Amino acid sequence: MQDTISFSENQKRQLLEHAEKEKPNESCAILYGKIKESNAIVTEIYFTKNIDESPVNFTISNEELIKAYKIAEDKQLDVVGIFHSHPDSMAIPSNTDKKFMESNPVVWVIYSGASKELKAYTLDESIKEVVIQTS
Ligand SMILES: [Zn+2]
Repeated sequence: MQDTISFSENQKRQLLEHAEKEKPNESCAILYGKIKESNAIVTEIYFTKNIDESPVNFTISNEELIKAYKIAEDKQLDVVGIFHSHPDSMAIPSNTDKKFMESNPVVWVIYSGASKELKAYTLDESIKEVVIQTS
């Protein structure tokens, strides 16, 4: 499992802008890149639509997921992470998130609109915090 995730300051800004733009609803995105040892290196962001249009949940449509995976394959990149925001709560995985983390074992990056914090997690046997490195 990954214990760090790296992205650029510019990518971080794009994620935060996306989260602010989608308010009051949760925003989501797919993070492309490469896994190097225990580090997930993000090289590109694929912004997705939250079809739930909800402030407490998000769903990426199957069509968009299929498209996202196809693009990753074309670019020879991996899906290394999933980003979403919690507009009004802390940057910790909800029970729904934990359920989806089981079926999507990548790094989950969560931005809190309440605390303005960006945090990352993996689910192995339990939830583990992943260190975010920005450059
Ligand atoms: Zn969540």
